[in-house]
This record gives sequence, C-alpha cells and structure tokens, in this order.
Amino acid sequence: MSVARPCFEKSFTQQEPISEAAIASAVDIMRTGRLHRYNVAADELSEAALLERDYAAWQGCRYCVACTSGGYALHVALRAAGLKAGDKVLANAYTLAPVPGAIHNAGGAPIFVEIDSEYHIDLADLDAKAAASGARFLMLSHMRGHIADMDAITKLCARRNIILIEDCAHTMGARFDGVRSGLFGKVACFSTQTYKHINSGEGGLITTDDPELAARAIIHSGSYMLYERHGAAPAPEVFEHIKLETPNYSGRMDNLRAALIRSGLDGLDRQVERWNQRYRLLDEGLRAIDGIDLPQRSPREQFVGSSIQFRPEALAPADIPTFLSDCAARGIDLKWFGEAQPNAFTSRYDSWRYLGDLPALPMTLSVLEKTVDLRIPLTFTEDDCRLIIEIIADVMVGRLQGTS
Ligand SMILES: *Cc1c(COP(=O)(O)O)cnc(C)c1O
Repeated sequence: MSVARPCFEKSFTQQEPISEAAIASAVDIMRTGRLHRYNVAADELSEAALLERDYAAWQGCRYCVACTSGGYALHVALRAAGLKAGDKVLANAYTLAPVPGAIHNAGGAPIFVEIDSEYHIDLADLDAKAAASGARFLMLSHMRGHIADMDAITKLCARRNIILIEDCAHTMGARFDGVRSGLFGKVACFSTQTYKHINSGEGGLITTDDPELAARAIIHSGSYMLYERHGAAPAPEVFEHIKLETPNYSGRMDNLRAALIRSGLDGLDRQVERWNQRYRLLDEGLRAIDGIDLPQRSPREQFVGSSIQFRPEALAPADIPTFLSDCAARGIDLKWFGEAQPNAFTSRYDSWRYLGDLPALPMTLSVLEKTVDLRIPLTFTEDDCRLIIEIIADVMVGRLQGTS
C-alpha cells in the first residue's frame, strides 16, 4: 500500500518583496540622480546620513556608520578599534566565512574558541585562550541569533582587558536581558544583505559610543574629508588628529540602498514578531519528534528566530547525509554545519585553510557534526511550518526504521 507523501513546494531562499514605500523612496532618489552619499547640497543630509541618524536612534547608541557590507563593517571595526597587523583576535569557531575573512583582511590572527551545545562561545575555553594568547580583541558572532551570557562575557573582557566587537549579522532587533544586541561591546556590526533582517541586497552598519573609533571608521569607510556630512558622527574636532593617519578603504553606502534600509527599519519590530511566531511553532514541533534535539534557549535572550538549528541525535553522523537527501527529496532544504566540505553559505572552521594549521576544536566539531539548519523566510506561513515539521518527522521515522 502506498501512502501519498506530502512535499514542500516553496523556496527557502525566497524573501518577501521590497515594500511599496521603500520602492517609492528609491524611485524618488533615482529621479534626483544623486545616488552618491556625498552628492548633497551643503545644508542637506543624504539618505545614507539619515539612515545613520535613524539607526543610531533605533539602536540606542551615539554613532553609526553605514558601509557596503557586514563583512566590510567587521574589518573596518577591527581596524578602527586599534587592531595592528599580527594582533590576535579571539573568535567563536561557529560563524560564517566573512568573519575569519574580516579578521584576515584587517591583518589579525584569529584564535578560534570552542562552542557549547547551545551554540554559545564556551566561556572556560575563552578564558583559557585569552590567558594563553594575551589577545586584546574578541570578535563575538551571535551566530544564527544565539546570544551567549553577555553579562559573563563583558565581565571576562573587562577582567582580561579585551576589546569586544559584536557581530550582530543575525541579531539585528534582538536583546539580552532587555538590552539590544550590539550595545555590549565597544563596537558592533550589522548586515543588511538579502538574507538578514533587513534586505538591501548588500549593506553594513557599524555602531559605537566611542567618538574616536567612530571617526576612524568613518574615514576608513571612504568619507574623504567630507566626514561632516554624516548623520551620527562625532564632532569635527575628533577628526582633527586622526584624519591624516587614517586610510580611506573606500566602502561607502549609497543612497539607494540606504533608502531601502531606512524603510525596512520602520517595519522591523513587526517582522521580528512574525519570525518568532514561526520559530516558536517550528521549535515546538521539531522538539516533539523522537530522536531530534534542539538547543535550550535562555529566557534572558530575546532572539529573532530567522533560522532554526536542530540535531537528529538518534542518527549516526554517517546517516545525516541520507537524512538530508530524504528531506531534500520532499522539498525541505536543510543546511548541515557538520559537512567536511564547505557548501553554499556554510563552511566549517577547519576549511579556512588560508589561516594555516588551526588547533582542533573537538567540542565544536561534535556539536556541528549533527547540526542541521533551517532558514525561516517570512514568505512561509504558519501552515508551511506545520508541513515542514510533518515531513521532517516522517523522514526521521523512516530513517530510524532504516527505510526511506
Ligand atoms: C552575513 C554574515 C556576515 C557578513 O555579512 P555580509 O553583509 O554578507 O558581508 C557576518 N557574520 C555573520 C554571522 C553573517 O551571517
């Protein structure tokens, strides 16, 4: 007897359309022809400058610099925070390839730190590696939106005299203990690449309360001597003693993308709610499947559920590829962070060969070995989420019975 097996039809990479308001504002800018952020009348603020002003206000910080991408923002943030060639940078090993790339680009030498089964940086390993290396920087990725105990991390950084740089590519709009992600470190970086929380195709934002760091980031980002045309910048005096010592690494935000981001910012809180509705549904449904584990999330963490991670613990690692292909055959596109070969967006730390021989990280490897990742585009309805759960449950039963 054959039973009809439902398949999922939607794309896991299909974002919602750009809003009509954002399109209208982009069209207005195109009509002026002034796409370059410094192409303004003397008393006018460009769209990029207005974005910096609005984002700083929304984030609750003093300064904001808009630039070309999240990875670019991370690189500039490291340099603006004082990184010199050869300086060591601690970083959680579970992250995306632009992060080690940004450290490398800034001339730093990453020291990867283990993660725990909740996808947080392991505090004991962090402390041991901070002590052994004497590193002055920690680049902390809130990878896939998982926010570690920020209280413990800021204390550790203070005790060890470490400058904290937050990679908030997956935590725009998230909080820990009610404080916005990005307000814990000396500087934070955000991405507005299509798959993040605001979609401008590409884009990056740097936020800080440190005037000198902000001034350096502005000059690095390619301001020429037009730094007064910024929307959330320190006073001109701050630039006086750094402007001739700071290279222009040309990576400006343009007015078109700034318009899309500004518009996106208006609706972000609502989007966060919609992501979390879908996340809660998937979390509950996947947790109920025999043999599948999900990380425990602390109530202190007010995350944005734009993706979900789970582990088919009942399967041997060697069975994961079949689990994934069975899911794929039914339309469920899962990513596997344990894959030895880098694939599409995901790569494991040991594939970043340009960094030379890296010490083994057994805890990280054992967590990632079974970590499967499901993106949650807002084009999915709650019914779509229910169907995804049903299919994954079905595939899991089949795998456990040795059939597919
Ligand atoms: C996307 C991403 C980045 C980099 O952002 P881009 O805008 O794509 O350069 C950095 N860190 C993490 C964790 C990311 O997912």
